[in-house]
Amino acid sequence: MAPSRRLIGRSAVQTRHCVRTMGRRSLRGGADPTGLYTGPVTRRFFVRTYGCQMNEHDSERIAGLLVEEGMEPTDDLESADVVVLNTCCIRENADNKLYGHLQRLKTLKDDRPEVQIAVGGCLAQKDRDLVRERAPHVDVVFGTHNLAHAPELLTRAALEGPIVEILDEHEAYPSALPARREVDHSAWITIQIGCDNSCAFCIVPSVRGKEVSRRMGDIIHEIETLAADGVVEITLLGQNVNSYGRDLGAGQYRPQFGDLLRAVDAVDGIERIRFTSPHPKDLRAETIAAMAECRTVCEHLHLPLQSGSDRTLARMHRGYTAERYLERLAAARAAIPDLAVTTDIIVGFPGETDDDFERTLDVVTAAEYDAAYTFVFSPRPGTEAAEMFDDFVPADVVKERMSRLTELVERIGFAKHQARIGRVENVLVEGPSKKDPDVLSGRTRGHKLVHFRAEGLFPGDCADVRITSAASHFLRGEYIARTQAAPRRRVRIPVEVV
Ligand code: SF4
Repeated sequence: MAPSRRLIGRSAVQTRHCVRTMGRRSLRGGADPTGLYTGPVTRRFFVRTYGCQMNEHDSERIAGLLVEEGMEPTDDLESADVVVLNTCCIRENADNKLYGHLQRLKTLKDDRPEVQIAVGGCLAQKDRDLVRERAPHVDVVFGTHNLAHAPELLTRAALEGPIVEILDEHEAYPSALPARREVDHSAWITIQIGCDNSCAFCIVPSVRGKEVSRRMGDIIHEIETLAADGVVEITLLGQNVNSYGRDLGAGQYRPQFGDLLRAVDAVDGIERIRFTSPHPKDLRAETIAAMAECRTVCEHLHLPLQSGSDRTLARMHRGYTAERYLERLAAARAAIPDLAVTTDIIVGFPGETDDDFERTLDVVTAAEYDAAYTFVFSPRPGTEAAEMFDDFVPADVVKERMSRLTELVERIGFAKHQARIGRVENVLVEGPSKKDPDVLSGRTRGHKLVHFRAEGLFPGDCADVRITSAASHFLRGEYIARTQAAPRRRVRIPVEVV
């Protein structure tokens, strides 16, 4: 089925704006003969998302649920009737940012007491009653396991007063709920929630619970529905995607992540499959083989390293050594030609010595990452690492290490970009470039951002583009031709992973 299309370029931006403006004014109910509206005004909601893709995905579900309730979205906070803050406690200073924002919302609530404020997500799950203690003007607090109840909780709060409802176990996968997606051609699918690991720096296991995999049939059914609706790119989401299925099918069929990749690859209309994030210790041969075989699985692996020091990795409880990590990466690269690899690295984990940090630089050099997300360690209350305060690394040392790491990562990434000049890349069009609406932006299969000029292309179209120049974080190219599908079907490659 043909997807609904949006024109690219300046006019498209204007069109979208007009639609939004009309949407804000649209009313439910009738008009009297004088033309004056007499029925109820549609309530408008504003959702602010903090944190990761998982949270953005949850926000799409919250928005979808509110739309189903007859509300409409707005990007104007001041005119919203319902404000939902979908919080994250993984990022630095998340609580300070949230409570600062809630303080500013108090003015809105003082001016318009009918406005409802809801706080959901990881920080709400962790802080529970504390949210209302620190911000008594909040109407609803809900957690990561019951976002499906958000509309009902808002209704109840309007009648009964403020509500805090936090569940300790999930009751529905976010993906199983209605969604209001930001883009038409691309969708995130939750395949698993929670995490069974215990990385010392991470709060996820305590706010998202144990790993629970979603049934493969449900995932495929949802992807088939999305494909029929014009979605061509799927990103499978989980905290540790390649341990998918471990908890499924007691004594019966227990699919592995590779089985899931193959099943998604077989869905008509899906042109690209991505996933995030795999855990290096669980990157097995079956996953690599499926990545190599499946036509639509992109040649991109985000494999979080966190540290290149075995001593630090052990203190983090990561479950692998630097050598093991590099062996698994080498196996993936051997099986999947032209594999782009990205990673996450923490600088200044408690107790990190100069020697530990040098080991991280060694692994970065050996791994030749296309890009790396680098983070300064910051203690998250409730984690093991937050208690290691005797070993915290001085800020000036961390700053100096971060600058050396960033310089190395950028140098390697830039060289990789330059090596692509002259090559033809298949690009999935995302829309007009943020800086110049007459230029298109899209992503290669290796997830590299490409800017190019072309007429008559729409978001979700694929095009071959010859790369003409490179910068650290993007490529430029010239349009060759529109293509229908992902370009190649791969052959089965035997993979060995130690
Ligand atoms: Fe957190 Fe580690 Fe689980 Fe990732 S694998 S979600 S870092 S505990």
